[in-house]
Order: sequence, then C-alpha cells, then structure tokens
Amino acid sequence: MINYISTRDPECKVTSSKAILSGQAPDGGLYIPEDLEDIKCDYHDILSDDFRSMAKSVWNIFFPDYGSAKIDELVEKSYEGKFSSPAVTPVVSVGDSYVLELYHGPTSAFKDVALSALPNLLTSAREMNDFTDEIMILTATSGDTGSAALCGFGGVPGTRIVVFYPYGGVSETQRLQMVTAPGENASACAIRGNFDDAQTSVKALFREIPHPVSGVSLSSANSINIGRLVPQIVYYFSAYSQLLSSGRINDGDKVDYIVPTGNFGDIMAGYFALRMGLPVGRLICASNRNDVLTEFLETGRYNRKREFHKTTSPSMDILVSSNLERLLYYVCGAEHTREYMKALNETGEYQITESELAEIRSTFTGVCASDDEGATAIRSVFESEHYLMDTHTSIAWACKGKLEASGSAASVVLSTASPYKFSRAVLEALGEEVMESDEANMNKVHEVTGAVIPEGLAGIFSREIRGKDVIEIAEMKDYVISKSK
Ligand SMILES: *Cc1c(COP(=O)(O)O)cnc(C)c1O
Repeated sequence: MINYISTRDPECKVTSSKAILSGQAPDGGLYIPEDLEDIKCDYHDILSDDFRSMAKSVWNIFFPDYGSAKIDELVEKSYEGKFSSPAVTPVVSVGDSYVLELYHGPTSAFKDVALSALPNLLTSAREMNDFTDEIMILTATSGDTGSAALCGFGGVPGTRIVVFYPYGGVSETQRLQMVTAPGENASACAIRGNFDDAQTSVKALFREIPHPVSGVSLSSANSINIGRLVPQIVYYFSAYSQLLSSGRINDGDKVDYIVPTGNFGDIMAGYFALRMGLPVGRLICASNRNDVLTEFLETGRYNRKREFHKTTSPSMDILVSSNLERLLYYVCGAEHTREYMKALNETGEYQITESELAEIRSTFTGVCASDDEGATAIRSVFESEHYLMDTHTSIAWACKGKLEASGSAASVVLSTASPYKFSRAVLEALGEEVMESDEANMNKVHEVTGAVIPEGLAGIFSREIRGKDVIEIAEMKDYVISKSK
C-alpha cells in the first residue's frame, strides 16, 4: 500500500488520509508518494469517457486507505451536478491545437476541480482517523483559491473556513465572489496589506495557534495539501481520452501539455500522470513576467530575490512556487531537497546540480510571456478562431508560440479560468472600451463575443454581501480565534 513521506525526511511516513488531514508534514516538507513505482499502472485501465470513473481509478491508486467503496461515494459527491460541462473538463479544438477547459466549476477557475473534492476527502479522513476536532481551514488568497475554497467548504459539517484577501488587491468580481459566498461556517475578510503579508501571517498562525480554541484544529486548502493535487491528475487522463476517442491521436502517441503556472501544483499533477504511465511528451511551464521558474528551468538556479510584478494574470504572480519541492525530492532526493529549501529560506536562492537539471529538463521546459504578448494572443485567437481565452490561458498560448517542435502528436493548452472572471483585462486585450464596474464589463464581453456568462458569475452582483470585515494584519489572530468559537 502506498505511503506518503515528507519531501524533507523519508522516515516521516503516514497514510494518505493522514497526509490529507494534516496538509503539511511536521518538518515543513510536503507529503508525496514514497515510491513512484507504487503509482505505475496501465493507462488504458484508467481511460474512460466518463470523468468520474477516471477520478475513481486515480483516487484508488493514490488514496488506498479510504477503500474503493468510500472513494466511489466521495467522487460522486464531489462532482455530481457541480460542473456545467458533462465532460467536466472538456477539450476543444482551437486552430491546430487543443484547449483543455478546466473552468466549468462553480467559481469558474480550475481550482474548483480540486476544491470540490478536498472537503469530502478531508471530512472522511477525519472520521477514518477518529479525529474529533473540528477543522478550521485558513487560506490566504490572491483571488481564485479563496472563492473556490469558500464554495467547496461552505456548509460542510465539521469544518469552518476563513479566507484572507488583500484589501483593494483583488478584482471586483473576485471580491464579490468571496464576500457573497453563502455558508454559515465560511468567512471572507480583507486585510490591510498585500498578498505576501496575508500569506506570511497565515503561515505564522499555523505555528502560533494550531488549536485556536479547544476542539478546533487548523488546516490548509492550498495546493501544499496532497488532497488538492491528486484530483487534478484526472484531467490529464481526461484530455488524453478525449483526443483518442475523437481520433485526433493514436493510442500510445505522446501529448505535450502547456500549463499556466504559479505554485506548480497543476503541472506537478501532470508529472504524476506521466509517472503513472500516461504518454506525456513535454510539460511546458508557462509563466508571466514573474519568470522565476523560467530561469530555474533554464539554469538550475532558483532565485526569489527579484521584483514582484503585478500582472493581468494575478494567479500566476509568484516568487516562491511551493510544489516545486515535490519534483525536487524525486529528482534530487531528500538530503538535497532539505539543503535547497534551507538555502531558499536563509539566502533566497539555491542552485541544483547539472545532472539534476538535465533530468528535470528531459520533461519540463520553462517559457514566459509578457502581459502584452498575452493580450495579443487573446485578440488574435479571437479574431482568427472566434475563441475567447482568459488572461492566464493566453499566457500559455503565447508561450506555445515560442516553442520548438517536439515530435509529440498534439499539444494541449490548459485553460485555467473563464474569460468572464477577468473581463476587464480581456476587454482591454480585445481593444474594447473598459467600464468602471465589472458587471458592465462582463456584459460587454458577452455583447462582443456572444459567449455565455457562467451562472456562478452572473449572480454575484445581486447576492447579499455577507463579509464586510476589513482588519489590520495584527488583528488576524484574534479574528481566527473569534471565528473558531
Ligand atoms: C491558481 C491558478 C493558476 C496557477 O496554478 P498552480 O497550480 O498554482 O501552478 C493558473 N491560473 C489560474 C486562473 C489560477 O487560478
């Protein structure tokens, strides 16, 4: 049976349900499957035209201690009626490429795929391990994780959730999605500070008040939790299955995936799919102007001491990409991973060896594109193909244009958000006039393109605003304690 170990210490070993329950290993490492041999399978056994059936197969491999009857139940509960597309993650053909649309969930970003599942995995892990504490999910967000987590955890018994977002630092659409989210157990709160302040303070709270009140334990909904990563593996199989059944590729052909990357969670799921046995060609790590990963994949040097740029693809604005640590373990081993993470923490940089870099580069390629290049991609693809991309997908599209041919049979661009979620920047890219309110901008995108406004977004402007809290950073601790009572 597959065990989970810390990336920093293979002796720190737990079951899958315990790994999900605690989110992060006690030594600060991330939980990963101990041995990649344990996840190897015949990919034909997983491929199916039904997303949920593929989810069951993948979850059974990664979460064996739940048992297959429980997994059947959890997969149904996670995806039943939540996604507007019957395929859950449909592949569409655009020009001579394919786009894997991951945004048909309730909050219109790809994080719904995993955050529809995580609350169910977590509450079940709680029962299996006789864990009696209630779970308080703390999340710092630059926008998309917050609304997807509030939606996933809202109303889930045994859990509460508090989301902190930077005051004035998210779009009107993102803010309304969060502050109008229903659920008595859910709160969204603005802090006077930027996203890094929010994230740093949340990390500190995990150490300071692991039990904010007696009978309540803190946990995380960020992609450091393996329970968020595994559900994302499924759509790599889903893409392959759709390409195969529509005759676009032949069985065994390799497919490249171009992934708009921030915290390296989405693309790491692709690496697991590859190691399971899916014919994956290259994994392209697409970055915006915050090109720390592009440099790393080019030179082997990770250097977070650089300016933080605010871009039109805010969910990819990052300096420290957490899930890269998982890849480092498999390529460099625990000892080097520990050294590198220590160096990153103390000096802000680390350098991997040449052979480690060569191994990573045999699968991963880093490319970056600017806001302007992304905007040009939105406009030109809309004009030539009448297909509308959001600002994150368009970065991946622009990166695709810079790649050399690879010999793979097809390339798939992962589309991580609905264009309506970023309607202001999308209108600007199309050369249209931008209005003050996001509601007007959303309607304008609809007018210009004819694309349907997702149900979950159309409603936010008329919903009751529940979260009006704005607090100082120093008040976050008391806020969490008051919401835990
Ligand atoms: C979170 C997010 C990303 C980045 O995904 P990672 O798993 O953090 O690399 C890209 N695009 C959108 C729209 C997102 O919300």
